Amino acid sequence: MNVTPLIDPFARPITYLRVSVTDRCDFRCSYCMAEHMQFLPKRDLLTLEELDRMCSAFVGLGVRKLRITGGEPLARRDIMSFFRAVSRHLGEGLDELTLTTNGSQLRRFAAELADIGVRRVNVSLDTLDPEKFAKITRWGRLPQVLDGIAAAKDAGLRVKINAVALKGFNEDELFSLIDWCATEDHDLTFIEVMPMGDMGEADRRDQYWPLSDLRNRIAERYTVVDLAERTGGPARYVRLAENGQKIGFITPLTHNFCESCNRVRVTCTGELYMCLGQEDRADLRAPLRNSPDDTDLTEAIRAAIARKPKGHDFDYSRQKIAGQVSRHMSHTGG
Ligand code: SAM
Ligand code: SF4
Repeated sequence: MNVTPLIDPFARPITYLRVSVTDRCDFRCSYCMAEHMQFLPKRDLLTLEELDRMCSAFVGLGVRKLRITGGEPLARRDIMSFFRAVSRHLGEGLDELTLTTNGSQLRRFAAELADIGVRRVNVSLDTLDPEKFAKITRWGRLPQVLDGIAAAKDAGLRVKINAVALKGFNEDELFSLIDWCATEDHDLTFIEVMPMGDMGEADRRDQYWPLSDLRNRIAERYTVVDLAERTGGPARYVRLAENGQKIGFITPLTHNFCESCNRVRVTCTGELYMCLGQEDRADLRAPLRNSPDDTDLTEAIRAAIARKPKGHDFDYSRQKIAGQVSRHMSHTGG
C-alpha cells in the first residue's frame, strides 16, 4: 500500500520518532529532575501494547528511526517485550531501533537488545568520578553504569556517551572524558544544558557552559576539524586531527538545526510534541484508546505534523531565560 509520508509545513520529512516509555527513573539527575518527583499515575501511561501500536503507526507513515527514551526506559517493567515487538519492523520500513539510557540496567539487558537488532545505545555519563557521579545523579552509582557500558560493548553494541556540559562540574574532566572514550572506543557527544523543568533560573545560568567555550578548550590541545555530517538533529560533529576521534556537540540553544529537523517526540502518556522547545502538542492516547482501528490515530498524527512549528525559542542571552518550557526532560524524553 502506498502511503503519503509525513511532511511538515516547512517541507521537512518526518522520519525520526523519539518515544518516552516512562517518566520514572532510578536516578535523579539534578539538571533533569527534582529530588522528590511526583510521577504520573500508571493509568495515564500508554500500555506497552499501546506504545507498540503507536510506534507501528508512525513506521507505517514513513518513520525510519525510532529512539526509545524516558525517564529511564530500561526501568519500565517488561520493557523487553515492547522492544521485541517493535523490532519486527526492522528491515520492514524501520532502519534503526535504538535507545537512550542511564546505563544502570545495561548489564541485564545488553545481550537481549543486541539479539533483537539494536545496534547502538546512547548512555548518559557526565563524569568519571564516583563521588561527583553520586552527586549529580543523586541516586546513581558509577561502577554499576561503567559495568553496564562494558556489557553493552561486550554484546557488540556501539556505545555513544552523552555528557551534559556543566559549568564548574565537569569542566575539569573535559580531557579525561575525551581520553576515556578514545581508549574504550566509544563515541562522545557533549550536550548543552537546556532550560527544562522547574529549576530556578539562577541555577540554570550557573550550570550553563556554552559548547563554544568547550570547543575552544579542546582546540588548545587538538586540531579540531569540522565535519559536514548532519543527522537532522541538533548534533554537529568534529574530528580531532591528531588521533581521528570524532566528537559531537549538541547545542539545542542555537537555531542551526531547526531547518533540517526531521523528528517528533511522544511522551509516555501519548502526547505528541512536534518541537522539543514548544508547548504545542497533540493527544494520541484518546484515538488509541477510543478505537482498535488506527484511522483516527493516523489522522491525529497527520493533523499534528501539519502544524509542526518552524523552530524553538530557547534563549539564554537575555536577562530572563526566554522560551523556557515548564515540563521536565524526563517527561518529553531527551
Ligand atoms: N534516562 C535516560 C538517560 O539519562 O540517558 C534517558 C532519558 S534522559 C532525559 C535523556 C538525555 O537528556 C540524557 O542524556 C540527559 O543527560 C539529557 N538531559 C536531561 N535533562 C537535560 C537538560 N536540562 N538539558 C540538557 N540535557 C538534559
Ligand atoms: Fe533519569 Fe536520565 Fe533524567 Fe538522569 S537524565 S534523571 S537518568 S531520566
